[in-house]
Amino acid sequence: MKFRSIKGTYDVLPDVSNKWKSIESYIHKNLNRAGYNEIRTPIFENTELFKRSVGLDSDVVSKEMYSWIDQGGTDLTLKPEYTASVVRSYIQNNLGANLPVSKLYYIGDLFRRERPQKGRYRQFRQFGIEAIGSKYPEQDSEVISIAYNLITGLGINDITLKLNSIGSSETRKNYKQALLKFLKPKYDQLSETSRNRFDSNPLRILDTKNKSEIELLKKAPKITEYLSKEDDLHFTEVKTYLNDLSIPFTLDTNLVRGLDYYTRTTFEIASNTLGAQDAICGGGRYDKLVGSLGGKPSPAVGFAAGLERLLLAMGDKNELANKEIKKIYLIGLGDKARSTMMKILNNIRSSGYYVEFDSLRRSLKAQLRESNKLGASITIIIGEQEMEEHCAQIKDLTSGNQESVPFDSIISYIEDLK
Ligand code: AMP
Repeated sequence: MKFRSIKGTYDVLPDVSNKWKSIESYIHKNLNRAGYNEIRTPIFENTELFKRSVGLDSDVVSKEMYSWIDQGGTDLTLKPEYTASVVRSYIQNNLGANLPVSKLYYIGDLFRRERPQKGRYRQFRQFGIEAIGSKYPEQDSEVISIAYNLITGLGINDITLKLNSIGSSETRKNYKQALLKFLKPKYDQLSETSRNRFDSNPLRILDTKNKSEIELLKKAPKITEYLSKEDDLHFTEVKTYLNDLSIPFTLDTNLVRGLDYYTRTTFEIASNTLGAQDAICGGGRYDKLVGSLGGKPSPAVGFAAGLERLLLAMGDKNELANKEIKKIYLIGLGDKARSTMMKILNNIRSSGYYVEFDSLRRSLKAQLRESNKLGASITIIIGEQEMEEHCAQIKDLTSGNQESVPFDSIISYIEDLK
């Protein structure tokens, strides 16, 4: 085979594409019900947009972007994250003009040149929401609760919601100094990555996965000790609402997140079963981003969740499949039945049911086998005798009941079986 897919990418093959579709329709349905509307933005943007928003020191911008100069000399990048792109569109299209709070969501592909491994790809899919316009803590708690409820609604229950507040930029400036003061005498014990971060972005040292550094950081000052009175009040309210909603969380003062634009609340939902790449969802408040990208300063909060990781965490549990419509298999036997079978197929389909038929003119036995393989819950048989009687044999495979049903009553009969 001469051509293979690019490293870190994968094909969604027919046997899993239905799982993808059902998870995506679950997301659309639930977010619409929560009052969020979908936004779709182009797959590439100006490189500068990500440099300005995500930050030059972040891993994403410094080493993971797929960027190129096009034939017209424009510096472009395949979207490595959605928020910057959504905010760019929010400003450009003046979305804040008519609505005091814009509630947006997205589902789409992103590109990062990371080292591929289970749960980490170079093209991956995220869904997420952005609520732009409210500075109040109930908005943070709503966003967190939406993420939490969507994930647990998929049957993914073994999760940890980690919560922190990184305050305002003033808080972080003061905290940075305290952290550097604490780390300076221990500089020699730091890994090379952390030493690099020491100068460029010391807060990111808290992200370390290195065991001895984690131990060393246990005695470091905590960012929550540096929160201003207003930041602290905001955080307390976020926690109160989550308690009111019975959403369990763990405080994690090391959760500073990799991207530059966060303020105050940060959170992450991790699976306790996924292994190294355990983060399913990350988010937080980003009150400064809209203003820094040239829009009217507007507070905002959102999250992004990885769809591949959701599917991995769901495993074989398919909560969604149980809720899907029943599958019907239509069996036509003999030349005389064919035209009637095609008409009935069309009618059933137009009524919104899932129905398949055999286009290979196979035997009754072979068609029954096929129906079984597909996991059909209803079979409809039309043979010569049925043609004479103008009735089809309908078998409810769940109860085992079989009845002879007049052709023109098939739809209402199926309706009653639901
Ligand atoms: P981030 O945009 O880095 O905050 O990531 C948000 C979520 O997207 C993570 O919690 C993961 O579920 C998912 N994610 C991030 N990077 C990747 C990747 N390279 N491959 C698959 N999923 C990813």
